[in-house]
This record gives sequence, structure tokens and C-alpha cells, in this order.
Amino acid sequence: MKCKLCLHEKPLLKRSHIVPNFMYKSMFNGGKRLVSINTNDIGGKVKFMQTGYTESNLLCANCDNGILSRLERFASLNIYSEPSANSLVTRKEYDEGGEIIPYIRFENLDYTNAKLFFLSIIWRCHISKLEVFSDVNLGEHAEQIRRMILDNDAGDEKRYEVVLIHIDTDGSRPSKAVIDPRQYTSEGNTFCIFHINEIMYHFNISEHNKIDLFTKASIQKDNIMDIAKLKGKWARMHFDMYMGRKLLMKSNIKH
Ligand SMILES: [Zn+2]
Repeated sequence: MKCKLCLHEKPLLKRSHIVPNFMYKSMFNGGKRLVSINTNDIGGKVKFMQTGYTESNLLCANCDNGILSRLERFASLNIYSEPSANSLVTRKEYDEGGEIIPYIRFENLDYTNAKLFFLSIIWRCHISKLEVFSDVNLGEHAEQIRRMILDNDAGDEKRYEVVLIHIDTDGSRPSKAVIDPRQYTSEGNTFCIFHINEIMYHFNISEHNKIDLFTKASIQKDNIMDIAKLKGKWARMHFDMYMGRKLLMKSNIKH
């Protein structure tokens, strides 16, 4: 069978993660159990997620244990854990008050590795046949993103932008949850959103009519990544705008 990343005929692995397990851990507040919400489920069934989704016959050992694991190690060490003393990557919180939204700034975070790691997640959602990822369809962009991952080329800053936003709704919304990735098309612009444990990952797929967010907050070649921290009213508004009030109504989480 053909590996979906290198396209070579090779024996394929029986178990490939679509989303690496460390992404489910909180980036900021230690490990609590997560709720998983299926937005297509009318009953709004809520279940606890133990491990990430895996799938067979997607990738060869070289691609999964080589290319993708290398990106995962980078992200796990530099983004999803406290930076170690000998790491060049720094992480600092800024709260300047006034009109400026508090944010967490990563510095010296390699643009190529960070961007390709996040793109590899949405690309894996695209190649997955699992129902939970069925909303993601990158169309012709899947091939371009595949090449970028394979060639270790994160490309131009303005292409396939990635924005992370930390959402703290203080329990008023199910923001400590994994919510199936969703794809939106609005006025010719296509973007995907994947919400995992208080972090909303925004992926810009098409180049025109981008939402404002992408021009302001996406990962840049200066190796700086900012994660805006939305709290209170702003967090609820952002959550509701993208995940929808319906989700809140459908879920049977009580607040
Ligand atoms: Zn391969």
C-alpha cells in the first residue's frame, strides 16, 4: 500500500496517531482529564478521552517514526512542556493591560518546525478516515501541505497560517474539551479550527479573504509565536463565534 506522506509502496504501520497524546495535556495547567465532544452528534454525547485516535495503513515507518515523530518531539519539548534550562526557547507571559490582550510569547521557536508540526496535525485529520475528522477536507491544498511536510519546507509566512488562542471561559463553556475539528468556508475563505483543551488552533487554508486573525497572530519567521489569552467575556465570545452556542446547548456538561 502507498504511504500517504511519501507516496511509496511500503508496508504501512498498524497504528499511527492522528493527534499526538501530549496535545491533549494542558499546555498551561497540568493534566486533567478531558471531555471529548462530537459536534455531529445530535444528543451531544460527552465521553472522556483516554488516548488519542489512531489509525492503521496510513503511513510507513520512515514517515511516521522519522519525519512526523521528529516534529512531535520538537513540539512536545518546546511548546507543550516548560522550557528546560538549556533550551534556547523562552516562554513569557505579558499582560500590559488596557486594550492589549494578555499573551504568551515564545521566542527562538523554530518557524519551520513549529509551523510544520501544526500543519501536520490538520493534514493528518485530512487523510484520516475516522468519523471525528470527517469535516476536514483540504482539497487541492492537501497535496501542497504534504509536500511541505515531506520537504521540511514551512514556506511563506502568508501561506497556511496557523494561529493558537488560549481560551479560558472559567467553566462557562466546555473549553477544557477536545472538540472535533471543523472546517468553515466564508466568502471564499476556507479555514479549519481544532479545539483541544483550552487551545483553539486556527488554520488558514485558502489565500484570499482571510479573517483578520490570520494576518495579526500567525506564526512568523522571526521565530516568535504569540498565543493570545482570552478570558471572561472575550473567551466566551470567541468560543461561541466558532464553536457555536448550539454546542453549549447540546453538550450535557452542567455549569
Ligand atoms: Zn512514507
